[in-house]
Amino acid sequence: MKFSDIPGLATVKTRLIDSVKQNHIAHAQLFLGKPGALNLPLALAYATYLHCENRGEHNACGTCAACSKSLKYIHPDTHFVYPFRSIPKSEDVDQVKSEASKLWRSFLLHQPFDDLTGWINLYEGETKPASISVETSREIIRTLSLKSFESKYKVMVIWQPELMHPSAANGILKILEEPPANTFFLLVSNAAERLLPTVLSRTQMVQVPLLTDEDIDIYLTQKLSVTEARRQEIIQLADGNLNLAIKLNSSEDDHYADRFADWMRSCFKRDYGKLVAFADDFHDLDKLNQRNLFQYGLGLMHETLLHHSGAGAISRAKSGELKFVKDFSKVMNVDKIASVNSLISQAHYHLERNGSPKMIFLDLSLQIANVFNPN
Ligand SMILES: [Zn+2]
Repeated sequence: MKFSDIPGLATVKTRLIDSVKQNHIAHAQLFLGKPGALNLPLALAYATYLHCENRGEHNACGTCAACSKSLKYIHPDTHFVYPFRSIPKSEDVDQVKSEASKLWRSFLLHQPFDDLTGWINLYEGETKPASISVETSREIIRTLSLKSFESKYKVMVIWQPELMHPSAANGILKILEEPPANTFFLLVSNAAERLLPTVLSRTQMVQVPLLTDEDIDIYLTQKLSVTEARRQEIIQLADGNLNLAIKLNSSEDDHYADRFADWMRSCFKRDYGKLVAFADDFHDLDKLNQRNLFQYGLGLMHETLLHHSGAGAISRAKSGELKFVKDFSKVMNVDKIASVNSLISQAHYHLERNGSPKMIFLDLSLQIANVFNPN
């Protein structure tokens, strides 16, 4: 990964590059972003830039011996720690680990903007939770006690440190505070609130914002040749999350607008037969599309509020969707919009915690029907 492979984020890139140019690199940095932020790609690009033998003003050269290894994720002085399933004693631990590291390289090469769910799906399916084991802290210390092989620097990328076993996290506190010379820790997290305060206090924060709509628009146009109408829908749903935008583009189900409008009409009419049928359909969607329908709904409540309060000019809704939002905003008031918004958020929360999609959807529909037409 090079900085130029990552859309947008000019300010953060410049700050990182300047830290190398000025030789003012914090020995432990926390690349922090909301879910969907490109903090892992940025940490990877930073590692590439650090090792590059012929650094440019804004980018690693991409062609020196160090870059060609970094770009394949086989540079001997970049080390990775990432969550993985627990390995039972019955399995050959070394072999499983070696297969995991091959998969990890493939993940970085082919799905560089993906998230933890994408990684778990790649190695296992959704059944076994991922974590960073207790032994890892010993491995980190052992690895960093060796001399660097080829580069002046040694880089340790720890992805999702919030999934570290507390003993593992405690085990690296000392080396995190006083790493060997020219050794840099790049912690990459989407949930700083779940990190131990003792880890947080030893790192310098690099805040990575989500992408702008424009960045996503450019990426979809230039890299994926997505049509204008489809881009508008994806951009609104993705809300700055490039990974989600890429997945939406490859997803077959792109009828959120129609589906959502139809659903809301059925809630208005209290058409129970239709709402049950909707719940069945919803149950059959895959998890991504279930989640997306709710996210789309939240986005649409936001648009409705804008139109209702006369701020339609800053709305992102386009064409067919815009007509629905305008009609919808006429029959809604601020309290109703807020209620529906919070009901969808709650349903989203229960869905993420693996409640029954059908029950969640049906319950949500009935509650929304009550908001529209209170008894
Ligand atoms: Zn280079």
